[in-house]
Amino acid sequence: MLNLVLFGPPGAGKGTQADFLIEKYQLIHLSTGDLLRSQIAAETALGLEAKSYMDKGFLVPDSIVIEMIKSKLQENKDANGFIFDGFPRTVEQAIALDKLLDENETPVSGMLCLEVEKQELIDRLLSRGKTSGRPDDQDVSIIENRIQEYNKKTMPLKDYYMAQNKCHKIHGMGSIDEIAQRLIDTVSVL
Ligand code: ADP
Repeated sequence: MLNLVLFGPPGAGKGTQADFLIEKYQLIHLSTGDLLRSQIAAETALGLEAKSYMDKGFLVPDSIVIEMIKSKLQENKDANGFIFDGFPRTVEQAIALDKLLDENETPVSGMLCLEVEKQELIDRLLSRGKTSGRPDDQDVSIIENRIQEYNKKTMPLKDYYMAQNKCHKIHGMGSIDEIAQRLIDTVSVL
């Protein structure tokens, strides 16, 4: 099983690159952002709670996202592997993921860390906001909040995966195809 963690700040291109990797390696895409947005669209209690954090650019509580991932893993027991996009985002989530994968004896194969300069992130998110309709992409102060949350709570995960020898840095500037090739080169030696 190939289990990839796609890691990087908001706007790093995780969703775009996930599409390439899914097709190439026939993986199941698990994006906590997408899962949360579908809960919001369905107006569930969970969606309503998540929305109050997401609209301000804060992380949703760990228990909510861990539970969502747990049920998706159970639903897809026969998968070739998974691509985790936007999850884990805290050390607590990473520990929970390791435990869940341990139960199936299929550890994280590698963490692919997309590195992009801050101004480029802001430009990409604002430009996506014009078409995505996402409220969190349309306001610079919310975007700044998301980047701050990333720096404070998510960046420490690099050390977590580095300690397991699983952290692979990928230069995330350039064309979509160039970045996809860098990812594929890395995955091919995992
Ligand atoms: P981006 O990577 O561009 O921020 P996402 O769709 O991954 O976009 O996330 C959007 C929002 O959803 C985040 O700002 C956060 O509020 C929430 N979210 C997504 N994944 C997680 C997670 N693993 N833990 C906590 N909150 C999350």
